[in-house]
Amino acid sequence: MTFVLLIVDDEPDNFDVIETLLDHEDYQLHYVENGEKALAMLPVLQPDLILLDVMMPGIDGLALCQRLKAMPQWQSVPIIMVTALASKETLAQCLEAGADDFVSKPVNRLELTARVRSMLRIRQQYQQLNNFNAQLEAKVVQRTAELQDLLYQDSLTQLPSRISLLEQVGAVLADQRTDFALVYLDCDQFKLVNGAFGYTVGNQLLRAIAERLQQHLRPSDILARVGEDEFCFLLSPLTSHFDLEAWAIEVIQSFHDPFQTPHCEMFITACLGLAMGDSATASPEALLQAADTAMYRAKHQGKGCYHRFDPQLHEATLRRLTLENDLQRALDQGELVVYYQPIICLATQQVVGLESLVRWQHPDRGLVPPGEFIPCLEETGLVVRAGLIVLRQACQQLRDWHQQGWATLTVAVNLSVRQFASPTLLADIDQVLAETGANPAYLKLEITESAIMENAEAATVLMDALRERRIQISIDDFGTGYSSLGYLHRFPLDVLKIDRSFVRDMHRSHRNYQVVETIITLSNQLGLAVVAEGIETLDQLQALQNLGCELGQGFFFAKPVPAEAITPLLHLPLNPVLQPALGAQG
Ligand code: C2E
Ligand code: CA
Ligand code: CA
Repeated sequence: MTFVLLIVDDEPDNFDVIETLLDHEDYQLHYVENGEKALAMLPVLQPDLILLDVMMPGIDGLALCQRLKAMPQWQSVPIIMVTALASKETLAQCLEAGADDFVSKPVNRLELTARVRSMLRIRQQYQQLNNFNAQLEAKVVQRTAELQDLLYQDSLTQLPSRISLLEQVGAVLADQRTDFALVYLDCDQFKLVNGAFGYTVGNQLLRAIAERLQQHLRPSDILARVGEDEFCFLLSPLTSHFDLEAWAIEVIQSFHDPFQTPHCEMFITACLGLAMGDSATASPEALLQAADTAMYRAKHQGKGCYHRFDPQLHEATLRRLTLENDLQRALDQGELVVYYQPIICLATQQVVGLESLVRWQHPDRGLVPPGEFIPCLEETGLVVRAGLIVLRQACQQLRDWHQQGWATLTVAVNLSVRQFASPTLLADIDQVLAETGANPAYLKLEITESAIMENAEAATVLMDALRERRIQISIDDFGTGYSSLGYLHRFPLDVLKIDRSFVRDMHRSHRNYQVVETIITLSNQLGLAVVAEGIETLDQLQALQNLGCELGQGFFFAKPVPAEAITPLLHLPLNPVLQPALGAQG
């Protein structure tokens, strides 16, 4: 390896001496006689080492050294100062100017060669390190680019990746455009392919699918692979002529032909979820999520289906999910409370019983009525747990009232269809009765006609078991369901509750008046007690009294209230004429 040495000295003789002393094939020596020339020659010569005379006219050695050490491109070239003034002061000046080493004149061969060699070795090591660093940097740049590719391109199909797609959607949105659609495609039961044929065949199939899907692209559209067997189209721009649903059907139909893989032909179907870019305010992620959600809906319809995302439906689903989570918490945290509405003997206007009605003491929403959460409890099956909570509270309350001396008071508890069908109902009731010590003879269960009719045989068995325990059974909302009076005598019933709607319209509709009359007559014939629900006016009360209706409940007497508010009502007849509209709570 040859090293280029630059000797800067105003005395050519000094150069001759150095040249003689450093006579070695590895060294290529160049000479300039002053600082200006040295600066001019540096880029041409690219020296590995500079030998610099301290005392020179013009720019002297110290000044030149300082300047070179301040220039990034020459900073690393070692400089040996050559000086006749070997005083400590001069040496200190040399070091301060940035010199790496020095030799004193007259120059001695041993010293010179030793110092030159050691400086060149350092220079060489420095350069190696530099090269190594440069290589490393190049590698990092290359790997980063490869990673970038991986991130932006799916390696199996060479299609753009999810990230790439999201960026493209982001760009469309940034232009405030809404004339586009995302179409999410998911293969049906792809896992079966992987399971039965292995991943190699699975991958071959995915490649074949990707290829076929690309045939549905217009020049400006994009197809990305966004998951294992999931693809997503960005269709943009969409004109008013473009029929998205027809396009979706075409894509689905293109799956009717088998896919060719190297070893076999394969059949598969796919579902599509369509999301319009109708809101320029949405995020790319939200739009992709919308298309994905729509795709899941399509899956529910069956294989090879498509579904268009409906923001309103989505809102409703979200609200519903929130409600479900909230209700789960409500049950865990004991947020369900029971209110009681008096049931009155219409002749004496005394409170003879109470209907327990559940309320949800919601931390933010306040008191939520059952109509807003019972249907959700019912659909999720949580109603069985909730019903048990109500039953337990109601039975405790029944026992307390009895202990306080109201010995003939009854408490009614509503049972939903699902609760009535629950296989654990009897065991649950037995346990609550044992726990609370409530007298079952004063417990009434309110069920609807539909709960009975949904499984009449099981209902008979269940009602017999309840009868054995002396628990009474009321038919709630009577008149709104099957209203097949013929079936009534087949079941061990105790009470009929006339639905509120008939009582409300008794005076306006003759037909409703007749329905109420018929129900009362029928109850009397069958030996059933009858309760009129929803009495709100004196007229209604008097009409019901005239028809011989035994019992009633309604806002005219009292609204549903917490148990504490009931006790004062038990002392007196709730005579609306003397003492109108009690209890405005609930
Ligand atoms: P329901 O069993 O028919 O209960 C009577 C409903 O009518 C109660 O509504 C009551 O507040 C209301 N009401 C009573 N008198 C009047 C009146 O004069 N005028 C009017 N407009 N309404 C009156 P609430 O408490 O909102 O309960 C609604 C329904 O929720 C109940 O109808 C029942 O089907 C169900 N429910 C309530 N608590 C429970 C429960 O613990 N379990 C089950 N499974 N369902 C319950
Ligand atoms: Ca009821
Ligand atoms: Ca009712």
